[in-house]
Amino acid sequence: MISFEGVTKQYPDGTLAVDSLDLRIEDRSFTVFVGPSGCGKTTSMRMINRMIEPTSGTISVDGRDISTVDAVKLRLGIGYVIQSAGLLPHRTVVDNVATVPVLTGRSRKEARRDAMEVLERVGLDLSLATRYPSQLSGGQQQRVGVARALAADPPILLMDEPFSAVDPVVREDLQTEMLRLQADLKKTIVFVTHDIDEAVKLGDRIAVFGTGGTLQQYDTPDVVLSA
Ligand code: ADP
Ligand code: ADP
Repeated sequence: MISFEGVTKQYPDGTLAVDSLDLRIEDRSFTVFVGPSGCGKTTSMRMINRMIEPTSGTISVDGRDISTVDAVKLRLGIGYVIQSAGLLPHRTVVDNVATVPVLTGRSRKEARRDAMEVLERVGLDLSLATRYPSQLSGGQQQRVGVARALAADPPILLMDEPFSAVDPVVREDLQTEMLRLQADLKKTIVFVTHDIDEAVKLGDRIAVFGTGGTLQQYDTPDVVLSA
């Protein structure tokens, strides 16, 4: 479980991005942070892997205060996917996915074999595995981004507007693929979007953020929709 207890983030310029957030994210849930731009969704998510440190309050993963955990170690258990897939331009698709496993001690051969399996799982046409990122479409790059985040088999996956830069048809495809993947993998997913339709399609729990970085509602999609 990921828990936020009284978490506040104020940036050095005085902006109050997240205000006294209390939230418990269940293991293996698909939790979506939704709300208008600027309401603290990304800041909240980035505090889970310590890319951002809270000003006050405590975040725990499996009962352990993450401020006491080495950030590099913490991140080995947390996959991260962003809008622009963030792939390494000078490595092929398969090597992008194999990078972290190789850094953590897997042989290149094993890591490449595992990478091909993960690429297949995310629905990438495997004939693209030896291409470079710039030779892929936006949608294909996002699939590789998801595969890379999954390569070390982390229990937690953070996804920050991962599909918002691709065209609507491809986006629907990726959303469907994500649901299929989650049915199979059962990760603890935290997914940020400003699109309520995407939130209710994907999430089994929806955290609705409002202006001033406050949590306004936290419930199942049917309850959020009827509110
Ligand atoms: P969201 O993800 O909901 O769009 P963010 O978490 O990115 O919201 O931002 C929350 C608020 O914090 C916004 O007002 C934003 O402008 C501000 N903010 C984000 N990052 C910084 C920063 N590094 N310095 C100052 N203000 C920031
Ligand atoms: P989408 O809009 O569906 O994301 P694109 O129009 O960007 O797709 O790409 C369509 C196809 O062209 C894809 O199969 C992709 O692999 C291929 N492609 C795109 N850019 C390149 C490139 N620079 N070199 C080779 N193939 C490319």
